[in-house]
Amino acid sequence: MSNSINNKLNPITEAIRIQIPRTNEQEHSTPLYLTSSFRFDEAETMRAAFADENDENIYSRFSNPNVDEFIKKMCVLEGAEAGFATATGMAAVFASMFALLKQGDHLICCSSVFGSTHTMVTKFLPRYGIETTFVAANDKDAWEKTVKTNSKMVYLETPTNPQLEIIDLEWAGNFCKQHNLILNVDNCFATPLIQKPIDYGADLIVHSATKWIDGQGRVLGGIVVGKADLIKEIFMFSRNTGPSLSPFNAWVLSKSLETLDVRLQRHCENAMKVALALKQHKNVSRVKYPFLEDHPQYAIAKKQMKAGGGIVCFEVNGGIEKGRRFLNNLKMLSMTANLGDTRSIASHPASTTHSKLSEEERLSVGITPGLIRISVGLEYADDIINDVMQALD
Ligand SMILES: *Cc1c(COP(=O)(O)O)cnc(C)c1O
Repeated sequence: MSNSINNKLNPITEAIRIQIPRTNEQEHSTPLYLTSSFRFDEAETMRAAFADENDENIYSRFSNPNVDEFIKKMCVLEGAEAGFATATGMAAVFASMFALLKQGDHLICCSSVFGSTHTMVTKFLPRYGIETTFVAANDKDAWEKTVKTNSKMVYLETPTNPQLEIIDLEWAGNFCKQHNLILNVDNCFATPLIQKPIDYGADLIVHSATKWIDGQGRVLGGIVVGKADLIKEIFMFSRNTGPSLSPFNAWVLSKSLETLDVRLQRHCENAMKVALALKQHKNVSRVKYPFLEDHPQYAIAKKQMKAGGGIVCFEVNGGIEKGRRFLNNLKMLSMTANLGDTRSIASHPASTTHSKLSEEERLSVGITPGLIRISVGLEYADDIINDVMQALD
């Protein structure tokens, strides 16, 4: 599959201009293909489609023009050979693991991963005889020690949720190459416009498109992109198990990619302003943002990220009670489970997204009782800052 309409165009332009062929109506914007299946004129073409001898669409669980357009744009943005789009981010994580791991395999997983990913790996993979070792994000010796003869895949997120730890992708890429492991990176927090794991040797990238990619809090979606041979396995697994993305959501997400670059620029600018303002407040003990110089992995962040992203986290003095009081005092910011929206969102990971972890597991990945995560939106920066400040006062 060629993902590029013109090799000379920048991926940002391609994310705007890639389009499936127009119909006879010559519509400018891509229409919505709400159809479960596709018809054939000749029995032979249909036979060949089922035998994978042509690229014809058969059934929307396998492929659909709207879904293809979204996949092509994401492949260009990530620099990937191929991709498969899914109904949610978790379906992408699920497919990337279940399609490629089998009984007896060993997975090495970064200890701070998205809550549902943690549950999937600890509660469900073992039922199928796949064991996982969790390793602290930046403990390089521990990564080396955990490799076994049956190790097959490394799964990591950077920046991590919600602690915003940064893992050195160049190091991780070399580590996986040396040990012949599949490197699978959840690039949800950064997006390909901020960081491209494939440049450092990642084999697979998974995304929750629900977050910055939609960016407007409307639809759920996910995608896996990467090496063509691995995506082929994921496609065969998925077309027979059914986690496919709906055409409508794909249409929304493909449109969303046209504005991803401008949206992210403002998200990142606003996030930096919020981080700097938080540092000045007496009721805040610790502010974490990848592009603040006192971030523990600031140098790595600067090396592999083009901007700091839209998430800021901080510790409210006074622990769990003060953390909840902060949320209750907010007048504009939303208290909701999403992130990566035009609207700024505040959340308290210890009592929500990471409540299924034990207290000990939470503390080991830095989720302290007073930790607050802000997904900085596109509102006027002073309005966001004023709301946060009055809630802290
Ligand atoms: C939200 C999220 C997911 C899961 O995505 P859904 O679309 O909610 O299924 C996976 N990884 C990260 C980092 C996320 O933030």
